[in-house]
Amino acid sequence: MIDPNYIRDRIRTVPDWPQAGVQFRDITPLLQDPKTFRVLVDCFVHRYMDQQIDVVAGVDARGFILGSVVAYELNLGFIPVRKKGKLPFHTVEESYELEYGSSTVELHTDACRAGDRVLLIDDLVATGGTMMAAARLIAKLGGTVAEAAAIVDLPELGGSELIRANGIPLYTVCDFA
Ligand code: IMP
Repeated sequence: MIDPNYIRDRIRTVPDWPQAGVQFRDITPLLQDPKTFRVLVDCFVHRYMDQQIDVVAGVDARGFILGSVVAYELNLGFIPVRKKGKLPFHTVEESYELEYGSSTVELHTDACRAGDRVLLIDDLVATGGTMMAAARLIAKLGGTVAEAAAIVDLPELGGSELIRANGIPLYTVCDFA
């Protein structure tokens, strides 16, 4: 079992970035240190190795880092959930609200098959809008989110509650409450 404090203590908090009032939780120190990176990846690999996952989806862009390594270690394929306009083939798309405006994510139409159990990975859950939009994309292709997973939960922003309320299992390693 991973110690949440071990991971939380190695996340850097950057005040007032990208805008005043925001406490940005920066996971790059976790990736930079080889031991911490391995502990983190191993935690996800052990959690999902016997879960009959068919494919790992990672969310643009930090979800690519953890998601692709976890997929590799599980001997699974990796599918990128990308910001709109980056994928070259036929896509499905889903939009979600941001504090100011909206954003759109896309998946290739052949990224997963009907009935696939998809492990959905991002670095952090805040309002949950990104993870929910990614989950809707997977549902559009007939897949099931076996679990959504992230390193960090910011529970006060309500995303983890929203995701679970929509029937999607969610795992996060640590939180900043
Ligand atoms: P949500 O859609 O509001 O849950 O925001 C989560 C998305 O925004 C994820 O893709 C994160 O990478 C990014 N994000 C929001 N806040 C932070 C933060 O404090 N640190 C790192 N990423 C963040």
